[in-house]
Amino acid sequence: MRILIIEDEKKIADFIKRGLKEEGYSVDVAHDGEEGHFLVSANDYDLLILDLMLPKIDGLTLCKKLRSEKIRAPIIMLTAKDTVKDKVAGLDSGADDYLTKPFAFQELLARIRAILRKKDANAPTKLKVGDLALDLLTHKVMRGGQEIILTNKEFSLLEYLMLNEGNVVTRTMIAEHVWDINFDTFTNVIDVYINYLRNKIDQGHKKKLLHTIRGRGYLLKEE
Ligand code: CA
Repeated sequence: MRILIIEDEKKIADFIKRGLKEEGYSVDVAHDGEEGHFLVSANDYDLLILDLMLPKIDGLTLCKKLRSEKIRAPIIMLTAKDTVKDKVAGLDSGADDYLTKPFAFQELLARIRAILRKKDANAPTKLKVGDLALDLLTHKVMRGGQEIILTNKEFSLLEYLMLNEGNVVTRTMIAEHVWDINFDTFTNVIDVYINYLRNKIDQGHKKKLLHTIRGRGYLLKEE
């Protein structure tokens, strides 16, 4: 899950970013409306956290602009204002939810979860490739009836590979969706994590599920 925070108050942006990263989300930050618009156009986000009062393009204008450009990522609007009029304006501009500053981080987290759940209501909560099963709700991973303990990062990586079952995913795709960085120097880290994951899911099993496609990337499938 990749989230963009568009917030000009650096302290708040850093605080949200740190908290979300601890929860296993990939997080980018934009410090004004223009940068936010650029990042949303360039990347594929699962959710946007958008401050109302922003330099260059304000939150309401940006929200309307994104919706008119058919950007459908859910938007949680942040604001210091707390009048009914502002709430209505925020929701009318195309935001999905609204949070008044100051807020408890746990509340933001709960709203993010609720929105992502709604968004994925029709998506399966259990992924399966061969005898490998991943439960998105309980975070449990099983292979051949045995539980596999993964770190948060390994879990996100496996989830991404399973969602793309049968298709090659490149290191760039992994960097963008599982980490929040997209430069080439980062690919070594991805290779290291792929190895960790391979050891955990394939070691001791005759049928290998995680395949390296030389020069292209990785592929998860049952052969
Ligand atoms: Ca602001």
